[in-house]
Amino acid sequence: MEPSSREMLAKIGRQLDANVFPHVFDNGVVMPSASDVTSSALGKETDDEQQRPRGSAAGSRKGAARWKGTPRRSRQAGASARISSGLLRTTYEAQVASLEKEYPASRVFPDDDGIWLQSESAVLSGLDYGATFLIALPFAPGAGPRAWGFWNDPRGPLWIGPRHTNFFDGSICAFSPGDNVWTEGGNLTSLIDLYTVWAFRHLYLEVMGRWPGRQYSLPPPNEVLNPYYRLAQCKDNELCGCGSLTSRYAECCKPRDLRSDFGRLAQEFVRRMGARLGDRKPPLAIADFASGQGALPSIRDVHNLMASTAPTSKQA
Ligand SMILES: [Zn+2]
Repeated sequence: MEPSSREMLAKIGRQLDANVFPHVFDNGVVMPSASDVTSSALGKETDDEQQRPRGSAAGSRKGAARWKGTPRRSRQAGASARISSGLLRTTYEAQVASLEKEYPASRVFPDDDGIWLQSESAVLSGLDYGATFLIALPFAPGAGPRAWGFWNDPRGPLWIGPRHTNFFDGSICAFSPGDNVWTEGGNLTSLIDLYTVWAFRHLYLEVMGRWPGRQYSLPPPNEVLNPYYRLAQCKDNELCGCGSLTSRYAECCKPRDLRSDFGRLAQEFVRRMGARLGDRKPPLAIADFASGQGALPSIRDVHNLMASTAPTSKQA
């Protein structure tokens, strides 16, 4: 990685650790948020939705002007209310038709139960290759999107995971529903922005050896497994998996977690969740499609359309 890219990677990581969401530019290029951005400058975004993608926030800012792309117009990140299946179809179909500016490499595939959207993000300026996201957008209300990420490695697609992917299909867990950064029927560019920053976090993890920014553990009723989950996943110098905005794991929950019976909790994890923590991976049909070795599966085959799909592993 070029020194300038690494420097930018580090800067964006520092901002994520400070709960500052970076800018996401066209083609999914993540750039640091301008240093002069304050909450007051963000106008309506001064509520508690700190994870809102500020790359889609209003206006050009000094720091962003160095990038030759243009900051995006203000976008509504989410829909305000639960909407019907017909409305989901209408809103998604209208949006995928106009993604070519923000995500020009996007492709759409029809499906009996929704839309498949494939999109590409450069992730970081100067990076040799970017990421591809395969996103299932069901029309059934409540099902929610489900997406997988792959690095476009010249030797073949590399699944992006397992940190902050869902159990056990390895789909992207880029935000928690409680963060209110995106809801069903919301803006698709904002959704891909969130996936793009999630991929950026993985890149940072790979290069710098630690996850940047806030992270969560397991929601109820499985919070009893969290000492095991954190001990297995969190590094000492990452923000603690309890969701803390300021404390690193080593000085937050780790001393207490260490007093738990790791082996017993590992067994309990398998008993409750049905597989081991390390067993996350994308469905074969998804991996095959990503590598050009198979047809795209139907959304129904890789997504439980009957149930709410609140992520079991969360991160913001
Ligand atoms: Zn903690």
